[in-house]
Amino acid sequence: MAGKTRGRGGLRDRLLVKPGSTVNLADVDPNETFGHVKVTAEVKVAADLERLTSLQERLWAEHRHRVLIVLQGIDASGKDGTITHVMRAFNPLGCRVVGFGVPNPVELAHDYLWRVHQVVPGNGEISVFNRSHYEAVLVERVHSLVPQEVWSRRYDQINAFEQMLVEEGTTILKFFLHIDRDEQKRRLQARVSNPTKRWKFKMGDLAERKLWADYMAAFNEALMRCSTEQAPWFVIPANHNWFRNLAVGDIAAASLDALDPKYPPGEQIPKDLKIE
Ligand code: AMP
Ligand code: MG
Repeated sequence: MAGKTRGRGGLRDRLLVKPGSTVNLADVDPNETFGHVKVTAEVKVAADLERLTSLQERLWAEHRHRVLIVLQGIDASGKDGTITHVMRAFNPLGCRVVGFGVPNPVELAHDYLWRVHQVVPGNGEISVFNRSHYEAVLVERVHSLVPQEVWSRRYDQINAFEQMLVEEGTTILKFFLHIDRDEQKRRLQARVSNPTKRWKFKMGDLAERKLWADYMAAFNEALMRCSTEQAPWFVIPANHNWFRNLAVGDIAAASLDALDPKYPPGEQIPKDLKIE
């Protein structure tokens, strides 16, 4: 995953989970910053956010490409923070953020992709998923909410679903925010201690924390089996929020840039048209 050369740049290649490669999150340093430092990173993030704003405006105007951004990670890994600090570059006109919680009775009465398919991006739109269909092979696997024979066939189903979306014109970027157990402890403790963060804490988070190893096994398998050429996973070292923002902003900007969205020419309008 991480390349041999250190230093700046090339975050996309370094953080990409190469299709078919083995993933062991235990071997990925969540403190990695590839030689970047906070002060200069913040300047670069600001520049990338400006690029993202401009790219999204063109994307929306052109009404052609569809972009799906998936955020996954254990509790307190920074999914919400990434939306606050990176996705804020996008104008809400043409961008929507969707959080996937415990399925409601109607959702439970359907297949697991049903609620997801309804909110994939249309032409010119960006959808940001805070959790996603991957929960079907994460929490549902870890808690045996469905039997193994059911969740084990979902990897291929997810790949087929994503491949269909891509073939129909969607660009998919999937970010896994990687923190370690100590960092999660610090963040959960901060949630408990800070009245402005307490609303995020649930007693159930402690039970989930005990299942750390099971979650890591589930993440490893999802990353390994579902990082494809069409819909790649990126593992983002996320102990440092500033590096997480830098990496996600950099990869998102490079990916939207590659779509080369253009303002449409508009109607044929006489050059000397005077508005009365
Ligand atoms: P949060 O992201 O903190 O708002 O929490 C959302 C909760 O919904 C998490 O505890 C997830 O584990 C849970 N959740 C999301 N998708 C599913 C699912 N498919 N089945 C069960 N629980 C889920
Ligand atoms: Mg939570």
